[in-house]
Amino acid sequence: MSSKVKRRPRDITELPEVGPAIADKLSSAGFGTIEALAVALPQEVSSVTGLSLAASQRIISAAREALDLGFKTADELYERRLKVARITTGSKNLDKLLGGGVETQIITEFYGEYGSGKTQLCHQLCVNVQLPRDMGGLEGSAVYVDCEGTFRPERIVAMSRARGLDPSKTLKNIIVARAYNSDHQMLIVEQVKDFIQERNVKLLIVDSVTGFFRAEYPGRETLVLRQQKLNKHLHTLARIADTFEVAVVVTNQVMARPDAVFGDPTIAVGGHVLFHVPGARVFLRKLRGGRRVARLVDSPYLPESEAVFEVTEDGIRDPLGYE
Ligand code: ATP
Ligand code: MG
Repeated sequence: MSSKVKRRPRDITELPEVGPAIADKLSSAGFGTIEALAVALPQEVSSVTGLSLAASQRIISAAREALDLGFKTADELYERRLKVARITTGSKNLDKLLGGGVETQIITEFYGEYGSGKTQLCHQLCVNVQLPRDMGGLEGSAVYVDCEGTFRPERIVAMSRARGLDPSKTLKNIIVARAYNSDHQMLIVEQVKDFIQERNVKLLIVDSVTGFFRAEYPGRETLVLRQQKLNKHLHTLARIADTFEVAVVVTNQVMARPDAVFGDPTIAVGGHVLFHVPGARVFLRKLRGGRRVARLVDSPYLPESEAVFEVTEDGIRDPLGYE
């Protein structure tokens, strides 16, 4: 909490201990903004600048103070909550389930078995985030971290046309990065911080967030390590959502339980991954035809309920008879 008379630093060169040489090193390593520094780890800052861990921690603390992270009174928190913006999913039913759409400032996890519509939803959100605010968008761009090679620009074209948007413009506002392993995936997400503000990014997608971690750390022996790495990644994503006020959407493929008819179908094999991270968890399951059911699980403030939506050539919609 800074004093009233002291002006808050506005760029990294105004932080204590950051001279021009250090500022250059930080910028070229992707820590060129106060926001990026505020969410950095002391080890990272130390290794790029050569400064001691203690000095690095002082820089990070100063960046956090400049952003006024830290203790807040409830009315300040309430004010931030009022700034939460939402992106329409394309289905009114699903929007209602989510309290108006996918929220900024937190992570939303869509989990479900193969073909349950996770990737289709991600594509739709990349289009919808670009819509004007009065149509459920945020007039922003999207970043799509594609970990499974399933991003399809032609789906964006079809969905854009269906919403009356110019597909050539919509495509330009979606920045796609193909990740090839879990370390690459984490690195890409770190790099997103560098251009999030410059490119007016309002939506960050990681599809799927768990695939590489499961493949690279199979079996019980590596479970702890896998979970540690995944938690670090999820915390980075949560901090990005919070600091830059963007919506972060992650997908997670799980297997439907064979005994789902009798047990709780939302407790799928693999389960959801957002245990210790603020966010919304939505379980998707297939019905006959193009229909899907979404169930909101453990929301901190919304009732647990279900919504039916449909995946069509035009994108995510309310099915006839369910609007
Ligand atoms: P996975 O876990 O394998 O990644 P997913 O949950 O991401 O699965 P999606 O790829 O989103 O699943 O969903 C695929 C389904 O979406 C298809 O089986 C089909 O029902 C529907 N779908 C995809 N493209 C179209 C289209 N052009 N028109 C209609 N429906 C489509
Ligand atoms: Mg998919």
